Amino acid sequence: MKDYIVRATAEGSTVRAVAAVTTNLVREAQTIHNLSPVASAALGRTMTAAALMSTFLKGSKDTITIQVKGDGPLGGIVVISDSDSNIRGYVNNPQIYLPLNEIGKLDVATAVGRNGYLNVIKDLGLKEPYIGYVDLLSGEIGEDIAYYYAYSEQIPSVVALGVLVDKNETILNSGGFLIQLMPGAGEDVVSKIEEKTAALQPITTLLRNGKTPEDILGMIFDEKSLKLGEKTECQYQCNCSRERMERNIMSLGRSEIKSMADEMHGAQTQCHFCNMKYQFSEDDLLSMLRDE
Ligand code: ZN
Repeated sequence: MKDYIVRATAEGSTVRAVAAVTTNLVREAQTIHNLSPVASAALGRTMTAAALMSTFLKGSKDTITIQVKGDGPLGGIVVISDSDSNIRGYVNNPQIYLPLNEIGKLDVATAVGRNGYLNVIKDLGLKEPYIGYVDLLSGEIGEDIAYYYAYSEQIPSVVALGVLVDKNETILNSGGFLIQLMPGAGEDVVSKIEEKTAALQPITTLLRNGKTPEDILGMIFDEKSLKLGEKTECQYQCNCSRERMERNIMSLGRSEIKSMADEMHGAQTQCHFCNMKYQFSEDDLLSMLRDE
């Protein structure tokens, strides 16, 4: 099954919901970055959040960036999505191994660390990007995204994110949902959603049992209330290029470029998101100085 995101409204449009399956996305990230199971779960949950949140972007050039920086051994997480749900990301330390937590799950909270912050940067083509910032609530990512929406955007939200990793480190499945209350949602709607989502099995169990994102939304909302909308694919895709890397080198400044040319006779840069390496010869560097 290809990865996809489905949009929906419910309760007479006072609720918006998105649900996604992101198994291939997380597998791709694991392959690119050689992620340990807990790193796969941490990056996978964050990428799934970005996939869900990318559906709220309106402009074709809009992007959303999620940065998580805790005090745990994982270091930090960076994920970027465009409005077509082309997603890329990395963690600082992909090879972290930790014991399972007290409920037998991958210990994402300890890997991320409970002290730190989560940033959401929305580049909507305006002069300045929108930047929202919250302290980490639990480091489990899902709760932190819900807290971000409640605190920074004043949108009550329910977020579930999950990545299931087999003993042999294979990603078995990944997915999530995001439900938001729009102005006008009654208290009865709020308590109904809380009740339904609290009673729901973990998202990875549902996916494992063959449930689709649509099925999962159908378990939360009444059939007559739920209006399923557009369904779009999401995928891992980096947008790095030689030109972009050249601009990064240019931004180091003349003296730095000159010393790279004189002393190293060239430079190599590597993309954080896809690990692609770009070589620049001494001549390339010297011509950058001329073109500046
Ligand atoms: Zn790249």
